[in-house]
Amino acid sequence: MLAQLVELEKAARAALDAVADEQALAGWYGAYLGRKGKITEAVKALGELPRAERPAYGQRVNEAKRTLEAAHEARRAAIVHAAQDDALLADRVDVTLPGRPAHPGRLHPATRTQREICAIFADMGFQVYRSRHVESDEFNFGLLNMPPHHPARDMWSTFYTTTPGVILRTHTSPGQVHAMREYCPEPVRVVLPGMCYRYEQITARSEIMFNQIEGLAVGPGITMTDLKGTLVDFARRMFGAERKIRFRASYFPFTEPSAEVDMDCILCGGRGCRVCKETGWLEILGCGMVHPVVLRNGGYDPAVYSGFAFGMGPERIAMLKYGIQDIRYFWGNDVRFLEQFG
Ligand SMILES: [Zn+2]
Repeated sequence: MLAQLVELEKAARAALDAVADEQALAGWYGAYLGRKGKITEAVKALGELPRAERPAYGQRVNEAKRTLEAAHEARRAAIVHAAQDDALLADRVDVTLPGRPAHPGRLHPATRTQREICAIFADMGFQVYRSRHVESDEFNFGLLNMPPHHPARDMWSTFYTTTPGVILRTHTSPGQVHAMREYCPEPVRVVLPGMCYRYEQITARSEIMFNQIEGLAVGPGITMTDLKGTLVDFARRMFGAERKIRFRASYFPFTEPSAEVDMDCILCGGRGCRVCKETGWLEILGCGMVHPVVLRNGGYDPAVYSGFAFGMGPERIAMLKYGIQDIRYFWGNDVRFLEQFG
């Protein structure tokens, strides 16, 4: 019996060494260690032996079973390892292939336009002044010459917060007062870019959030001539040297006198088209001489100091410049739109 067992173990080992994959390994296990395997049968044969032979045989057969089980486990690990190595080799990176092109991000068209506008005013000596998005009613309206219940407040549909007197700024103009209070009595020449918020219906022409760029110049002896010269120069640098500009009387509570600035239509050259509503002119910004009340609220004596202010929407400017028909594209997060501005 013992001699038979030694032979059996030898044969099992030889067969195991020949196993090359997981399927064959499972077959080997069934043949030797499975429920009806040869080693299992050899263990069962213990009961049929004469009592005297049982201890020696029993010890030997259990030993054979244990070593074969360990050998099986080692073989299984080796096969799995080899399979992984093969998979890695098959998936090996070919470093000689040309790489996939990187997909670089780019500036949002509103940001691009905003930076372009800031750069033009920087050339004229304006510095960028950033102001808060969440404002007090006082700064957004009161100090800009719109006391509570002033009818002009209806021009700005406002997002109110649950804290009384705290709102989302409806325009960048409150930054004017912050800037003046910071620099007074020095002269001021700043542009204030940033997001503004209005409680409005979202349409092709209006959004609840949009950028504005406001400009402010305060100093002794600043006149309407300075305002006109600055804005005509800006429009020509932004839209082309041949542009015609006109100033049209308007009303803002924080400037006096106030004006809208129109430019001859860049699409039809002033002949009249759908975009300019057949007028030949496009409105690009609003402006005026800073109201004495606002100057005083900023800390300046209106008898000595004067200033001008202007404001425009970079999205609207970009719409004119690139012929974009719908303002909702800007915050719609459609990559097909954004990718067009390289
Ligand atoms: Zn036109």
